[in-house]
Amino acid sequence: MKAVGHPELLRSLPSIDVLGRNPELQSLYIIYGRGAVIDAARATLSQLRQEITSGLLDEDKLNLALSALSSAIESRVRQSQTYSLCGVINATGVILHTNLGRAPLSETAIDHIAEIAAQYSNLEFELATGLRGKRDAHIDGLFRQLLKDELAGKSEEAASTIVVNNNAAAVLLALNTLAEGGEVIVSRGELVEIGGSFRIPEVMSKSGAILREVGTTNRTRVRDYESAINERTRLLLRVHRSNFEITGFTEEPSTADLVALAHGHQIPLVEDLGGGALFDLRSIGIAGEPTVLDSLRAGVDVVTYSGDKLLGGPQAGIISGSASLVSSMRANSLFRALRVDKLTYAALEATLLAYVRGNRESVPALRMMDLTREQIGARAEKLARRLASAKLHAEVIDGESLIGGGAAPSSTLPTRLVALTCSDLSADELSARLRRESPPIVARVEEGRVLLDLRTVPPAQDSTVADSLLRIAA
Ligand SMILES: *Cc1c(COP(=O)(O)O)cnc(C)c1O
Repeated sequence: MKAVGHPELLRSLPSIDVLGRNPELQSLYIIYGRGAVIDAARATLSQLRQEITSGLLDEDKLNLALSALSSAIESRVRQSQTYSLCGVINATGVILHTNLGRAPLSETAIDHIAEIAAQYSNLEFELATGLRGKRDAHIDGLFRQLLKDELAGKSEEAASTIVVNNNAAAVLLALNTLAEGGEVIVSRGELVEIGGSFRIPEVMSKSGAILREVGTTNRTRVRDYESAINERTRLLLRVHRSNFEITGFTEEPSTADLVALAHGHQIPLVEDLGGGALFDLRSIGIAGEPTVLDSLRAGVDVVTYSGDKLLGGPQAGIISGSASLVSSMRANSLFRALRVDKLTYAALEATLLAYVRGNRESVPALRMMDLTREQIGARAEKLARRLASAKLHAEVIDGESLIGGGAAPSSTLPTRLVALTCSDLSADELSARLRRESPPIVARVEEGRVLLDLRTVPPAQDSTVADSLLRIAA
């Protein structure tokens, strides 16, 4: 066989024009779009050219590559069009994992989103009158039912609620509406930073309010707030310490004391709750976390909280409280810029209905919180048994799950973990391989072992996790 030089091989590559008229490629245009197919064809040709000039392809290999050219182009264009956002299996045991999308939605919420997304809806339309309606009408009634204060017999004046894009937006809107140009008093022990650059002093300055810090990091007294109140003071702000704790020599006023102080000076008390539980966390063994109703009952005028933390719904910022203050926030033009779309209302409405019906089981985050150590242990044992292979060592051990999302930072739920080692791979390598699976699996690595917490894995996916691990170990 006569040796063929690089220039000749290069000449045997088809031009883009010729390729573009190839019926096989043209049939891809309908699926992927002409531009994307041509781009993939160019990239594939340029790779072949490179392989020829670097001597990787002789005539035979090139002919083989050319006969598979269309399928190489198709796989390249398909690759370039896969979704970037994809579902993952969260085996970390952190229920409201901020990096993994916080709360998964209930099936009813997803069905309701699909129904509202696919057609026109009464988003801002009153069917009874045919007049223009308000979008928050769809959730206000549900919040009223959930937040009515039966203890104080104040059900007629139950809190009003509006919804914005996230809790950061809720805090911004509350401060801008109630305190722009004036002073807001906050304890130095509550000047928090929440992941992803939400910092109280910065939100305060964006809102146009002036921060008046009082007290010290570990101790702030009612007196500290009191002596800072002056004619420019517009409100007292309390911020939940969502992601840290101060222990030891500490002191802070009770909510009741701050309410009394604020109301004595005719200024409102606003509380950024962060998590925003609509249920008592003592039901899952966690003490000391205020619920939304606890704060309102104690007399806090306005509370802000996230929709996708303890509530277990869609990303949203929720503002509940005094009807007049909430309606002034609704009237602020900033509200228009921070409002949420119909899909968020649909998901929130369905999630709130589950609460009204007392159906915790249907809200995934609540269902995961309610799982017992024994229930998780039984699944972990089953998974460990399936993994018994020469290369994988799986052991079931005691551990702790986290609620995450800034709820009770140091409170944990008892769980059972599958602890894995693999004779061929380090723990870091094994967890990296798990992340490359489809769907990707995210696990914890501790002390040279990969730890899987099935609390946050839907039971139907236990076998997907097992299959992935067996494939990696094979
Ligand atoms: C989480 C949190 C926020 C930010 O809420 P997003 O919904 O993420 O915008 C603000 N304040 C506190 C106290 C929080 O815990």
